[in-house]
Amino acid sequence: MSGFATRAIHEGQEPDPSTGAVIPPLYLSSTYAQERVGEMRAGYDYARAGHPTRTAFESVLTALEGGEATYSFASGLAAEDALLRAVLRPGDHIVIPSDAYGGTYRLLSRIYGEWGIELTAANSSNPDEVASAIRPGQTKLVWVETPSNPLLGIADIAAIAAISKDAGALLVVDNTFATPALQRPLEFGADAVVHSTTKYIGGHSDVIGGAVVIGRGVELTDGRNGGTGTPSVADAVKFQQFAAGAGQGPLDLYLTHRGIKTLDVRMARHSENAAVVADALVEWLGADRVLYPGLAGHPGHEIAARQMSSFGGMVSFLAGSPERARRIVESTKVFTLAESLGGVESLIEYPYAMTHASVVGSQLEVPHDLVRVSVGIETVADLVADLEQAIAK
Ligand SMILES: *Cc1c(COP(=O)(O)O)cnc(C)c1O
Repeated sequence: MSGFATRAIHEGQEPDPSTGAVIPPLYLSSTYAQERVGEMRAGYDYARAGHPTRTAFESVLTALEGGEATYSFASGLAAEDALLRAVLRPGDHIVIPSDAYGGTYRLLSRIYGEWGIELTAANSSNPDEVASAIRPGQTKLVWVETPSNPLLGIADIAAIAAISKDAGALLVVDNTFATPALQRPLEFGADAVVHSTTKYIGGHSDVIGGAVVIGRGVELTDGRNGGTGTPSVADAVKFQQFAAGAGQGPLDLYLTHRGIKTLDVRMARHSENAAVVADALVEWLGADRVLYPGLAGHPGHEIAARQMSSFGGMVSFLAGSPERARRIVESTKVFTLAESLGGVESLIEYPYAMTHASVVGSQLEVPHDLVRVSVGIETVADLVADLEQAIAK
């Protein structure tokens, strides 16, 4: 198989056979003409079920993660929702990280809770805690986010995959922060990967999207078939995409696909810049206030070094007080004060009152003085100088 960057650029991007256009055309059509009843020209009938831009994007992400199939959705949460609905049934139990993305927790606690899904939050940087949170027979999914948002915790994917397998539960890894350019969870035994493609995969802060990648041969247990007549989890998620209709549309997928072509070079620069920013923060604030898995003192550093090729572009730090955290995020000039992450431009935010406001008061509440930065790919000296003046204020 060709290299990662080659696949990212060429997979699903054959020149258009009728015109030679190097970039495949964008088909906005909602419906496709049939030769005879039920006889389609290229397998497409109606765009909720599928369209060429979706096929192209799903094939490239499958090739990059090393999975069996990918299904794309209108947002990262829509992708998570489709996977959860494909696998879980009322009465089932799920283990999630105690530092999970706030939206994942909100979806599970406030929507799935009403549908009879039970939830335990466990510290996934400690596999023993995950193991003891599992309820044999009832736990159908173990959810891991590594690095986690916003605390940059690291979970040992291979260790948790072994624990999940023993318990008959599927392991899902939210790979939004690392992307397949830096980490491929399926290679470490995960059963499925979810992405908010809104972040690094799109990479330009101009589209909302999500995807689920299923590993090879992953099956539902207990004779379940996800409404498809087969135990295949891929079939079940595909059926959710078609039957519940949250699949991503052509324009959004076109932008997402354009983004993924440069994922490899962007992630390299994000990681390079973030390492410099983390070192500067350590100098100003002290090592114990800076959360970045690339720092030798990070508790997950060795595991991250084993399962990631570099440490990514997200850095968090403890400002010392909520007032100081707010002052810093409101004082930067190159870093924009905004939610989200993973775009070429640097962003800064205050998770307690912004991205993670939904977990305040829960077990997942984040520190009041936490600042999260998404280190972009601008000239790194400008980023360091900007944070320095904001912190000095
Ligand atoms: C943003 C994010 C999501 C949710 O994705 P949306 O595209 O906003 O729906 C899920 N997981 C992580 C880690 C995220 O950062």
